[in-house]
Amino acid sequence: GGVLYVVATPIGNLADMSRRAVEILQSVDLVAAEDTRHSLPLLQHYGIRTPLQSCHEHNEAQVSPRLVEQLRAGRRIALISDAGTPLVSDPGFALVRAAIAADIPVVPVPGPSALVAALSVAGLPTDRFRFEGFLPAKAGARAARLTALAGETATLVFYESSHRIQASLTDMAAAFGGERPAVVARELTKRFEQIERGSLGHLAQWIDADDNRRKGEFVVMVQGAEAAAGRDEAEIRRILGILLKHLP
Ligand code: SAM
Repeated sequence: GGVLYVVATPIGNLADMSRRAVEILQSVDLVAAEDTRHSLPLLQHYGIRTPLQSCHEHNEAQVSPRLVEQLRAGRRIALISDAGTPLVSDPGFALVRAAIAADIPVVPVPGPSALVAALSVAGLPTDRFRFEGFLPAKAGARAARLTALAGETATLVFYESSHRIQASLTDMAAAFGGERPAVVARELTKRFEQIERGSLGHLAQWIDADDNRRKGEFVVMVQGAEAAAGRDEAEIRRILGILLKHLP
């Protein structure tokens, strides 16, 4: 019967493609890709000659019913995006929902995602994190979103582009305070991979200091609010307890 595979692809380093991902892309009847021209070099690199069909933000609503028809007819289809895991700030939501509604098995073929790769090396708490994707492009909406997040205690994770990384770090420092610990992960798995850790104030200055640092793709992670404050408070209570014991 038909199966929809949701297949993760590399976020920079072509060697990060899993063996299973290659086998699935080779063996399916069709690969639904966010941008067929973008995915062609990856498929060629692995000698994959499966037909491609575009499935992106702007045609997903129209294309999904047709793909589901093919799945109903017993075809096996793999969904990929330009980089990383589909549906994570990438197309695929409409297709996955349509396949589920049609009782088609939806099978994950896991692999790279900038979100998890960045968190795994940040050195910030990962037991609870909140993925916020891209911040709004307009300054007012961005500041409002950040203000609403100022009290969040989980680690915050944002995707950012080269165009807005500077503005976003500056706005984060304003909304969360320049002292809040944060991490910028840039160009992960690529030639100019860079991970900079420090306060938001430091990171806003760091990004400003060199044009090259603003090039490429970014994940910004910010330590949660009370994760720090909560610990401080517990520590204050502990010390207070000791001091009170010694009061006459
Ligand atoms: N689906 C992808 C995933 O699973 O990570 C994300 C796609 S989203 C359209 C692209 C954004 O992901 C970039 O703007 C950047 O924030 C982040 N990103 C993708 N590749 C990256 C990399 N190699 N290094 C750092 N961030 C990356």
